[in-house]
Amino acid sequence: MHPKEERTLVIIKPDGVQRSLIGEIVRRYERSGLKLIALKMFVPTPEQVMAHYLTDPDWKQKVGEKAIEAYKQKGQKVPSRSPQEIGEIVLNNLRKYLTSGPAVAMVWQGMHAVGVVRKITGGTEPLTSDVGTIRGDLTLDSYLVADTDGRAVRNLIHASGNAKEAEQEIPIWFVEEEILKYRLVGESILYDVNLDGILE
Ligand code: GDP
Ligand code: MG
Repeated sequence: MHPKEERTLVIIKPDGVQRSLIGEIVRRYERSGLKLIALKMFVPTPEQVMAHYLTDPDWKQKVGEKAIEAYKQKGQKVPSRSPQEIGEIVLNNLRKYLTSGPAVAMVWQGMHAVGVVRKITGGTEPLTSDVGTIRGDLTLDSYLVADTDGRAVRNLIHASGNAKEAEQEIPIWFVEEEILKYRLVGESILYDVNLDGILE
């Protein structure tokens, strides 16, 4: 596979739609040079959300461990639960969050698509994600408040974590016919080895 064919899945979660941020979010990814090859709006089903997060069999464990580490670092009491139990709670909260209303799913393609999208998206927790990123600029939630309220962190976006994860996630949200193959004229300036078609 040529590097320019890398694909990644982005979902604008229901809070992004409710905040009227669809255009702003698409604009940020679009101007990177990546190519939008699929786009649709729909209400996610609980089955899709479960399949999506459980494509990685270690996801619950990893999210649970990450959450426990975060409690410790902030000097907060770690809930006396196993990482698996915490992961299960996070997953249930995500299911409620993602099925609460319309979402927008997209597939973006291009060189380093996963990395470029993650960079533009920003870190998972809006409170600590970098300024200049979507999660850092356009919303304001934290793990602390989300956990206290017993709900998912509202961070506007899902973006695949790596290329393998992307290829597993895309078929959960799109059928093959919904993903378009086409050329963008701007791709030549990004990818062509010889820039010999510009001067007259
Ligand atoms: P992402 O790839 O940046 O979206 O982050 P992950 O794949 O690690 O986690 C997926 C989702 O699980 C996030 O968007 C959060 O909603 C939730 N999540 C992840 N880690 C934590 C955590 O430590 N605490 C809580 N409360 N939620 C978390
Ligand atoms: Mg992830």
